[in-house]
Amino acid sequence: MLNMMNATQSTLTLALTKTDWLGLVYLFAAVLFYLGLKMLSKVTTARRGNLVSALGMLVAIAATFFQISGGEAVSLVWIVIAILIGGGAGLVLAVRVPMTGMPEMVALLNGCGGIASLLVACGDYLNKTGQTIEINGVVTHVDILSSAGWDVLLATGLATLIGGLTFTGSLVAYAKLAGSKFIPDAPVQFAGQKVLIGVLLLGSIALAGVLVAKPDAGYVLILVAAMSLILGVLLVIGIGGADMPVVIALLNSYSGIAAAMAGFVLNNSALIITGALVGASGIILTNIMCKAMNRSLMNVLFGGVGGAVAGGGKGPEGEARAFSIEDASIILDAARTVIIVPGYGMAVAQAQHAVKEFSQQLESRSIDVKYAIHPVAGRMPGHMNVLLAEADVPYEQLQDLEQINPQFEQCDVALVIGANDVTNPAARHDTASPIYGMPILDVDKARTVFVIKRSMNPGFAGIQNELYFKENTGMIFGDAKKVVSELSAELAAN
Ligand code: NDP
Repeated sequence: MLNMMNATQSTLTLALTKTDWLGLVYLFAAVLFYLGLKMLSKVTTARRGNLVSALGMLVAIAATFFQISGGEAVSLVWIVIAILIGGGAGLVLAVRVPMTGMPEMVALLNGCGGIASLLVACGDYLNKTGQTIEINGVVTHVDILSSAGWDVLLATGLATLIGGLTFTGSLVAYAKLAGSKFIPDAPVQFAGQKVLIGVLLLGSIALAGVLVAKPDAGYVLILVAAMSLILGVLLVIGIGGADMPVVIALLNSYSGIAAAMAGFVLNNSALIITGALVGASGIILTNIMCKAMNRSLMNVLFGGVGGAVAGGGKGPEGEARAFSIEDASIILDAARTVIIVPGYGMAVAQAQHAVKEFSQQLESRSIDVKYAIHPVAGRMPGHMNVLLAEADVPYEQLQDLEQINPQFEQCDVALVIGANDVTNPAARHDTASPIYGMPILDVDKARTVFVIKRSMNPGFAGIQNELYFKENTGMIFGDAKKVVSELSAELAAN
């Protein structure tokens, strides 16, 4: 029996080639990516999920090293240099970029993914077009392009197309989010734009098909690359304002699909699986965000909605009332239920720890405290969850839009901390508003609403907020961290 087992074992060991082992290690890395992604969907496991995914990447890189050291025609030195440059840049960015700059950073990273896929596809194509090698003093030209399968050629064309449009599209998105003076935040649309987009898209897909039929037509690949770069600009330039988060999620998905195509080109299963995971999760996120804004993807892409209105936009009628810290804290002290509504301003002020201390102050007075989390509050998906988790706010206190909205009518005070667009009642009824149809947090239905912000300036969508002019709303002007700390101190002093 033992002999039989030993024999089976050695047969198995012998049967697994280096390629098989490599495949298994890549599969293991892919499983780690999958587990990491799953963990990232819950605040409690998100940090561990990040580590598990990073471990997956380490395993995949180690496996690639192992593959290359076994005789691939690539110098390890170049790879180490590339890792040092890329890793160094990533480290500096990760340390320096503030949480509020994450959307821009994600846009840039998506762009890097896109251009990497384009370069991998084009580089591999060039590699296959012909190599001159010398065997025993005889120079021979080796052309393996003609033997490349149709699937690899199609993947080459598609990786170039999707990678290219992801690259320029992401750069435009970055410029818009970073407030560049060269590219306006508002949608830029012109007559015939959709037709041009359609022609470029269909044309480049057709050219990818031509590449399959005529593998040695290298100029076709150059054309696809050029068209895709223009396509990326045209697709994103027409989108603006509050629609940018959806675009970032979509570009993220594109970068994943481009990577998966590059995986087919290189016959690298880890890249195919990882790209597919990124592509699928990006599409799911895009869908969730479209739903959160009550918009179809087509409307986001081609509707030209979401432009900032210069000078703060046309304001609703009425006058906003300013409240002092003392007056506001008297009303808060008398409340039984308080719903905190955080937004982008809380992130700018880094007020999350002060907010946690403030809510503890309220709870010590037997006031029921909950947090209302809008899916697009802040500047990236899950922005508020991340900040509040950092301040150790119990996860059970965070309620999403559907859970919290019916509770505003019974709530004594809704305390809006640096949120604006996600609380604007115009989204419910003003068909002319750029945010019309976006589900909002119904804070105006609370008995009293306090809004903490520095001025009457608009938020991301560039429009004035009706909420500030309602009778039950009081404005507490100032930096979110400072105001919340002062409210805490005032409550503690009473
Ligand atoms: P908004 O951008 O609508 O408003 C934020 C408010 O915070 C501003 O009105 C600003 O007013 C105030 N603020 C800024 N700094 C401070 C500070 N230091 N202290 C106090 N207040 C401050 O934010 P919301 O979170 O309500 O909505 C998010 C918007 O961003 C939506 O339009 C969404 O579509 C968009 N978006 C969302 C992304 C996401 O993925 N979540 C990504 C990109 C865009 P003032 O200057 O007067 O202080």
